[in-house]
Amino acid sequence: MGIPLRQSVKIGFYIVRQKLRGRAKYPLIVELEPLFACNLACPGCGKIQHPASILKQRMPVEQAVGAIEECGAPMVSIAGGEPLMHPQIDEIVRQLIDRKKFVYLCTNAVLVPRHIDKFRPSPYFTWVVHIDGLRERHDEAVAKEGVFDQAVAAIRQARQRGFKVATNSTFFNTDTPQTVIDVLDYLNDELGVDRLMISPAYAYEKAPDQEHFLAVQETRELFAKAFAGGRRRRWRLNHSPLFLDFLEGKADFQCTAWGIPSYSLFGWQRPCYLMSDGYTKTYEELVETTDWESYGRGRDPRCANCMAHCGYEPSAVLATTASLRESIRALREG
Ligand code: SF4
Ligand code: SF4
Repeated sequence: MGIPLRQSVKIGFYIVRQKLRGRAKYPLIVELEPLFACNLACPGCGKIQHPASILKQRMPVEQAVGAIEECGAPMVSIAGGEPLMHPQIDEIVRQLIDRKKFVYLCTNAVLVPRHIDKFRPSPYFTWVVHIDGLRERHDEAVAKEGVFDQAVAAIRQARQRGFKVATNSTFFNTDTPQTVIDVLDYLNDELGVDRLMISPAYAYEKAPDQEHFLAVQETRELFAKAFAGGRRRRWRLNHSPLFLDFLEGKADFQCTAWGIPSYSLFGWQRPCYLMSDGYTKTYEELVETTDWESYGRGRDPRCANCMAHCGYEPSAVLATTASLRESIRALREG
């Protein structure tokens, strides 16, 4: 399974429009971070280490929506921090949906029961719940007991109310093919979530736990074994077939960092969601003033082990739309 058909078609038209306009670099999805504060403190997180003066800031609604309008991206992933701690998060979501943006609201789910009444189901809106493993593994990943059970309850509640629900699972070198299979089987078959997203963890310089990030070869072996036996086709993975090929070592390409840019309280982050080499006021300025050729595997040592979704899914999507055979494959598997 791949990206939903309606979304694939809209994104396909968006890419064609950018090409017709002669726009060489454009965003597919923005990682919007309207705050950095979180109610958890995961050891693998690279986002919550800012000083208290930054952690208490919340991005105004007009600034968040204005950034998305300026860059023109068709999809927005709202993360942080924990977006449900933003007092106007529902208004940001509503205004983006009004503009027909596909909105993914990423959450650890702890606050979902308290805030779910502020949201309405929509084909443009998906809850994305962070789940890194079954109960013991997940609670260890978020360094707090009971969070897995809260996340499962929130997923059930959101599904009962008619929302689309996806999950986002990050894997570390403490995972084995079996732990990947166990959690994806559970989410796909028992919980019945609409879409599953997966990514190898990126070694954030600021993350307290630096020992458990996957190297490239480890990532390929992990996913090749986990995907074997027809499981990859059976899970409702929210990724292009080429990105999944990339994860299991059947395809390789450079990242396309400008395809999933990150906009936070500081501005547009250079060069990507994972590294911060400065900020710009506009997406156009980010595109024009960044030396994109100096980033990526073999170019910057910080990129050596990166196979993260935010860098490589845009490469996979652009390669897909450039090939009739891959486009047909993506639609067939969608
Ligand atoms: S839930 Fe997400 S934002 Fe919060 S600490 Fe964990 S990884 Fe960081
Ligand atoms: S490889 Fe690309 S996406 Fe990954 S950290 Fe480097 S610039 Fe960012």
